[in-house]
Amino acid sequence: MAHHEILPEATQHFIDLEEHFGAHNYKPLPVVIAKASGAWVTDVEGKRYLDCLGAYSAVNQGHCHPRIIAALVEQAQRVTLTSRAFRNDQLPLFEKELCELLGFERMLPMNSGAEAVETALKMARRWGYQRRGIPDGQAEIIVCANNFHGRTTTIVSFSSDPLYRDGFGPFTPGFVRVPFGDLAALEAAITPRTCAFLVEPIQAEAGVLIPPDGYLAAAAQLCKARGVLLLADEIQTGLGRTGYLLACEHERVRPDVAILGKALSGGVYPVSAVLSSSEVMAVFNPGSHGSTFGGNPLACAVARAALQVLVDEKLAAQSAALAGPLMAKLRAIASPYIREVRGRGLLIGIELDRRARPFSEALASRGVLCKETHDMVLRIAPPLVVSADDLEWAAQQFAQVLTA
Ligand SMILES: *Cc1c(COP(=O)(O)O)cnc(C)c1O
Repeated sequence: MAHHEILPEATQHFIDLEEHFGAHNYKPLPVVIAKASGAWVTDVEGKRYLDCLGAYSAVNQGHCHPRIIAALVEQAQRVTLTSRAFRNDQLPLFEKELCELLGFERMLPMNSGAEAVETALKMARRWGYQRRGIPDGQAEIIVCANNFHGRTTTIVSFSSDPLYRDGFGPFTPGFVRVPFGDLAALEAAITPRTCAFLVEPIQAEAGVLIPPDGYLAAAAQLCKARGVLLLADEIQTGLGRTGYLLACEHERVRPDVAILGKALSGGVYPVSAVLSSSEVMAVFNPGSHGSTFGGNPLACAVARAALQVLVDEKLAAQSAALAGPLMAKLRAIASPYIREVRGRGLLIGIELDRRARPFSEALASRGVLCKETHDMVLRIAPPLVVSADDLEWAAQQFAQVLTA
């Protein structure tokens, strides 16, 4: 599907409208989706595709999961928004269920992933001043090269990607960048002003980069020894994606702060959250942080159902079980273009020796939707409800386009 290809009429119509009236801050594949169910989506022409991106791991539970949609509809007919000026009867249950599921003492709900990251950064800074005695205004947070934590001005301030930063300064100070996976660099970067280390357990956007074995566990130990909070951004890696509820569990790491979003609602509604201990969460007092929609009853009802589906359908275990055969098939592809196939659970990257875009376009025409990340990597992250047969078929399509 190159640019010059003539597209079907309905598809072209919607693309033209969006090109004319929308901001051009994305470069989507020329597929206009009209409906979806489970791991499959259907475009406006009636053509079906296996979704191998899963909305960047927001639809781990599958598109339009009936139990999540039922919770949405039921709650929408009762009450959707109270603001936090009053209490509602869904937030307390969501707080309890999420904390108990993941083993944290407290949580704070927000909406988008970037907002949850911002919340964690504010929390870590205040904790540094209040609990660690860092002089006011001098707290430092260590981050990793090639990180992706969202798009706010503060978050892009510490990105290493010019695409995310150019033209958006002046930037927020107080961040120090170290290479991902480099423990010695982390250790050397810690100063008496360091309050936190923010890390993705696997750098998904950067191309599904997995750190060396033992890195997270050692980083957690180091942070503990030096009185630095470990903030794990599990927005994309969490909630079953890599075979565990949190990717940190691969190294038996319990972060001081876990940041969730995306699949927290099964892709039905924007819901994010920050989880931590009572001690750390205590830095927030009334008025110090908030969000009009954060913790609204509709979001909470949807997220409660989404968590229940993860547990009842054992989707973390399912991710691990499906990944083995799929990885084996992908690794068996004898392609001159493949440099490496890597992944944990159903978060898989195929690194190529050339741009991946033409391959994602060829896959789309064969009915497999996936998207290149960072130019040279094809990311495979289907909904975790995908069947083994569908994955086997998808692996054949990958083999076809990568050996053509
Ligand atoms: C998607 C993502 C975010 C940002 O979430 P938004 O909902 O897009 O703001 C942050 N961190 C990671 C690791 C992500 O994958």
